[in-house]
Amino acid sequence: MKYVDEFRDGDVAARLAEAIARESDTGRSYAFMEFCGGHTHAISRYGVTDLLPANVRMIHGPGCPVCVLPIGRIDMAIRLVLERPEVILTTYGDCLRVPASNQLSLLKAKAQGGDVRMVYSAADALALAQKHPEREVVFFAIGFETTTPPTALVIKQARTMGLKNFSVICNHVLTPSAIMTILESPEVRELGTVPLDGFIGPAHVSTIIGSKPYAFFAEEYRKPVVIAGFEPLDVMQAIRMLVRQVNEGRAEVENEFTRAVDEHGNLKAQALVSEVFELRRSFEWRGLREVPYSALKIRDGFGEQDAERKFGLEFTSVPDNKACECGAILRGVKKPTDCKIFGTVCTPENPMGSCMVSSEGACAAHYNYGRFRDVPVVAA
Ligand code: SF4
Repeated sequence: MKYVDEFRDGDVAARLAEAIARESDTGRSYAFMEFCGGHTHAISRYGVTDLLPANVRMIHGPGCPVCVLPIGRIDMAIRLVLERPEVILTTYGDCLRVPASNQLSLLKAKAQGGDVRMVYSAADALALAQKHPEREVVFFAIGFETTTPPTALVIKQARTMGLKNFSVICNHVLTPSAIMTILESPEVRELGTVPLDGFIGPAHVSTIIGSKPYAFFAEEYRKPVVIAGFEPLDVMQAIRMLVRQVNEGRAEVENEFTRAVDEHGNLKAQALVSEVFELRRSFEWRGLREVPYSALKIRDGFGEQDAERKFGLEFTSVPDNKACECGAILRGVKKPTDCKIFGTVCTPENPMGSCMVSSEGACAAHYNYGRFRDVPVVAA
C-alpha cells in the first residue's frame, strides 16, 4: 500500500474484522492497551471498537503528553510568567488550556497579563528569542520521545549561537517507564481489575527508540507488544496480531509499522537527546504519580538553557480536581464515560481535566467522535 487512503479502506477493514472475530477464542476475553494517544484518537475516530467482537476490548493508556502533565508543572510555568514581566512563555497550543490550580490555565494567565504565546515548534520559540533579545523567552517543552529531539536541537543551537535569553522548562517523559509503571500497578499485578493481555506499541515514539526497548515487557512480563501505525487498518492488523500471539501463547515484540519503525530507531536523534538530556531521578505524572527515572532533565553543560535553574523554579505537587477521573483513565482503570461530569460540565470547549483538552486525550476522543452515544460512528 502506498497512499494513506488505502490504510482506511472500509472493505479491508471489514475483512480484518471478520478475521479477528474468526481467530479470537469465544471461550475467553482479550484486553489490549493502546499506549499512545494517537491510537486512542484513531480508534475513536474510525470506530474501530465497533468492528471488534464483544470479547476483544481496548483499554486506553497514558500515552497522551498533555494528559499526563501534572497540575504542578503548569502552575510552575504560570507563576513564572505572572511574576517575571520580562518572560515570554511559549508552548504548544494544547498546553495552553490544561486546567491548573486556582481555576487558572496558561491561557487564563495570558488574560491576566502574562506574555504567553503559542508556538508550532521548538524552532519557533528559538526564533522568537532571536527576534526579542531584550526579553527572556522560555519554551515549555512537553512530549514523549518523538518531540524530545527537536527540543534537544534548539537547546544546542541556543548554546552554539550564544543566545542568552532562551531557556527551556523540560517536561519530556519516557514511554518504557510508563509501560513498566502500568504493569507494576496494583490494578494489573494484584487486584486484576485491569486485565492486560498485550499492548499496541506507539507509532511515532517507536520511530525514534525502535522496537528493541519493548522486548523487556514481552520477556519479563510475558505481554505481547505489536507496534502499529496510526491508520485504522494498522490498528486492526495489530489487534489481529495480538490475538494470534495470545492464542499461541507467545509474548513477543512484533512490528506492524515496518514502513517507519525498525529495531534500533533513529540513532542520530538518540545521540542528540543523550548529549543534551539526562534522566531525572523522579517525575510526577498525572495518574501514575511519582515515577522513578521516567523523565529527562537538561544536563549541567547546558545549564544556561535550563529555565528551572535560571529562574529557580520549584515544583509543588497538587492534587487533581476531585470530580475528574483522568488519573484512573490514564491507568486504564476507568473509561471516560465513568466520569460523572463527562460531556456535561466537562467538554472540549470547557475542559475540567487534561484528558478533555488534547485530541489525543481519551475524553476528548470519546466526546468528539460520539463514543458515548448509543449509535456507533464509523467515520470515513
Ligand atoms: S470528562 Fe473531564 S473531568 Fe471527567 S475525567 Fe475526563 S477530563 Fe476529567
